[in-house]
Amino acid sequence: MSFTLAIVGRPNVGKSTLFNRLVGRRLALVDDQPGVTRDLREGDARLMDLRFTVIDTAGLEDVTDDSLQGRMRRLTERAVDMADISLFLVDGRAGLTATDRVFADILRRKGGKVILAVNKAEGSAADAGALEAWELGLGEPVRISAEHGEGMEDLYHLLRPLAAEYDEREAETAPAVEVDLSEAEGEEEADPLAHRPTAAKPLQIAVIGRPNAGKSTLINKILGTDRLLTGPEAGITRDAISLRSDWMGTPIRIWDTAGMRKKARVVEKLEKLSVADGLRAVRFAEVVVVLLDVEIPFETQDLRIADFAETEGRAVVVAANKWDLEDEKQEKLADLKEMFERLLPQLKGAPLVTVSAKTGRGLDRLHDAIVRVHDIWNKRITTAKLNSWLGAMTEAHPPPAPGGHRIKLRYMTQVKTRPPGFVVMCSHPDLMPDSYKRYLVNGLREHFEMPGTPIRLTFRSQG
Ligand code: GDP
Ligand code: GDP
Repeated sequence: MSFTLAIVGRPNVGKSTLFNRLVGRRLALVDDQPGVTRDLREGDARLMDLRFTVIDTAGLEDVTDDSLQGRMRRLTERAVDMADISLFLVDGRAGLTATDRVFADILRRKGGKVILAVNKAEGSAADAGALEAWELGLGEPVRISAEHGEGMEDLYHLLRPLAAEYDEREAETAPAVEVDLSEAEGEEEADPLAHRPTAAKPLQIAVIGRPNAGKSTLINKILGTDRLLTGPEAGITRDAISLRSDWMGTPIRIWDTAGMRKKARVVEKLEKLSVADGLRAVRFAEVVVVLLDVEIPFETQDLRIADFAETEGRAVVVAANKWDLEDEKQEKLADLKEMFERLLPQLKGAPLVTVSAKTGRGLDRLHDAIVRVHDIWNKRITTAKLNSWLGAMTEAHPPPAPGGHRIKLRYMTQVKTRPPGFVVMCSHPDLMPDSYKRYLVNGLREHFEMPGTPIRLTFRSQG
């Protein structure tokens, strides 16, 4: 038995975005397209080990007549009635509106289980909105970013106890949740995403790649004798599962998709599913190992997966497997490096390691590369250091003056980690050319030694 979650809220708060994230529907490869009813959309969702049905009330934006309010209300009531738990979404950047309050009234009146989430809370633009949301009288709001996948763990921790009574499997499959309060935050600056639990979690790794790249072999090798030989029971074959281990002294949780696929025996869809499942695992991972078969490296599928990992903001290590089969190792390595640079410029500087999952050679290098990119992914740079660097950068190359408008860079600060995100306050942010942004991102990567992680840089005007 599972439960049903209704995502409700006024238009434009990000319901569809969250729906898509939970269902993974924008990954066109997933073959269980939710049935699109006229007004309510339904899909099979998962969040960590929770599996549930999600319904949302998207599509209302299309209705422009003045019965909108009434329809919205009816639809929301219907969704709430159908669901076991409601997830009420508000827009943390826009602040509360009268419509939000109407919805809050409906939800309070219905008296069901409600989680209040403040969306668009990446960065600090939703700080005020998150405070304001308390006024709705629906308890503590959880801050999330449906678009960037932030806050999903917090959401999970709220959802899980509410869902417990609906999910019999929950007790068996739930991961241990450890919270280590002794974990020292970076002393340099406070974390603006303070809502994130400071859990001393195992390092989360997903190994993804085309079928036969050697994912199962590699995961087995990493897990060693700890590995459970029996697979997960039928019914969850389509999902990624995770296995915990201690790998060369590093606690890890590794997302296994390959083994599951083998159990699934969905022969005709083997290829498609393995990729789709791999992409799902990316969302749970901190570090994504893109495993290539060195005999057929950088295939279209590999590139897609690597690109997805980057856009999802994950740290990436590229591992070329089956290195034992290679005779001309030097030449091959040069080839690989050249292809990597040419085909995946967005992952500039990410480590490329050669391994043999079969013999175990190179696994120490892989381990070290994973730990290193994970550190970088979590890296925090002081505002003072950033600004002295920014000064040097603008001196070397002043920003352009498009159309006679001088772009003045005022100061810069790191607003987030995992992956590192920076904001540069400047005049005319909308005029900033991509070339100058690239100059700064590449400079940041080089100067502060941040290979293997996506870097987010945004420009904002003051006031
Ligand atoms: P819905 O009408 O409630 O289904 O909202 P949508 O999912 O269509 O999102 C409305 C707009 O908000 C879109 O432009 C999204 O890209 C944007 N959006 C959704 N989630 C986020 C988020 O977490 N952060 C930001 N900044 N924008 C978001
Ligand atoms: P998956 O589909 O990505 O999980 O790939 P598997 O782990 O099932 O491996 C596919 C095939 O490649 C199997 O026959 C493995 O024995 C073989 N294989 C995996 N890793 C290596 C390796 O490092 N060297 C060699 N020579 N073969 C490998």
